[in-house]
Amino acid sequence: MAKIHLASLEKLIEDSEIQCAPMFAQIEKIEEGWTEIILSAMQEYHIAPRHFAPTTGYGYDDVGRDTLEKLFARIFATEDAIVRPQIASGTHALSLCLFGLTLPGDHILSVTGKPYDTMEDVLGIGEQPVVGSLKERKVDFSMVSLTKEGAFDIGNIEKMLRPNTKVIMVQRSRGYDWRPTLLPEEMESFFTHMKKNHPQIIIMVDNCYGEFVCEKEPSHVGADICAGSLIKNPGGGLAPTGGYIVGKATLIHQIATCLTAPGIGKEVGSYAGSYQPFYQGLFMAPHTVAQALKTMTLAARVFETLGFAITPKADERRGDIIQAIKMKAPEALIAFCQGIQMASPVDSMALPEPWEMPGYAHQVIMAAGTFVSGASIELSCDAPMKEPYILYLQGGLTYSHGKIALKKALSHMGKVLDQ
Ligand SMILES: *Cc1c(COP(=O)(O)O)cnc(C)c1O
Repeated sequence: MAKIHLASLEKLIEDSEIQCAPMFAQIEKIEEGWTEIILSAMQEYHIAPRHFAPTTGYGYDDVGRDTLEKLFARIFATEDAIVRPQIASGTHALSLCLFGLTLPGDHILSVTGKPYDTMEDVLGIGEQPVVGSLKERKVDFSMVSLTKEGAFDIGNIEKMLRPNTKVIMVQRSRGYDWRPTLLPEEMESFFTHMKKNHPQIIIMVDNCYGEFVCEKEPSHVGADICAGSLIKNPGGGLAPTGGYIVGKATLIHQIATCLTAPGIGKEVGSYAGSYQPFYQGLFMAPHTVAQALKTMTLAARVFETLGFAITPKADERRGDIIQAIKMKAPEALIAFCQGIQMASPVDSMALPEPWEMPGYAHQVIMAAGTFVSGASIELSCDAPMKEPYILYLQGGLTYSHGKIALKKALSHMGKVLDQ
């Protein structure tokens, strides 16, 4: 890598920003489309201050909760939705779906290869048995990877389907993988194929990091059920916690029995905090996602120019808010992460170090100086400490902050590497 000097860095970033203008325009167009959809849904449901009011106890007839769920269903064009602060994370939302949709003897097939790390224990597919996992409940799992080109491998999928296959799992985002994200339009023909040939199989999409990035959502192109985290895209950086599930009414009903209890389902669940950040967060989400996408596009352009291997490329269509960068050397990876942390609005004095994390084979380094603890819609990055030292950078509440942080992190990395 060429040496990074502050003056040349300023120029590199300014030049890159100019080159990103056409991509920024495209991102803003999609932002506007989603803003229009969300705004009209909010008007249609007559959103008013009464929807923000806290509730207590059982939460019967909680109008704030019920209307928020109607909004999500309308925006994702599904029959029903579960949107709750009580869903603790994206993993929890996905786990609820799988437990709600399967019975002992059923089979789940992932058609996008190994699912996100935290799903391993949910499925029980690691080396050690996991208490409460789907495997323990006699639900089988297998997987088919995407083709080298990043497409659905329909030939192998057909071979791996079984008479008892209940659910196929599709992970939209790259997660921590060096592969392209799946765009909803790429899902469409495969979903159509599945509907035609295997109409009984439920198509479930892990939509984490993907919401409002493209013109359409997987639920617009045939997914039966989609789930994600509210401290990622659809919370707009404001939702303090929570998860969502959208999809067919019968499936949502089944899942809701796991959320609370059979016979009770979606009817209970109060929230003593205000629902306002969830509504306002949803309203902000297309804008926040656009800020993150612009930040990632700029980062892509800058790293490309510096000679790093990256995915996606600056001018490639994005399906999620992640930018993967091969940092090549552990020193570069650590220094860049530390620079991102130093440039954060919160916990800027903390210095991230690689550490052992439960469930991970390698040490991991993370930078997340966020307002909402661990929210990766805010500018953050993480990386397993292994060759070829791939950094996963994501989020950014404002593009200005993203740009400033990029400059700071690169300059810090340059200083460390010069020593
Ligand atoms: C973040 C993420 C999850 C899990 O979400 P948590 O909120 O961290 O539990 C699952 N799948 C993908 C692709 C994700 O990005």
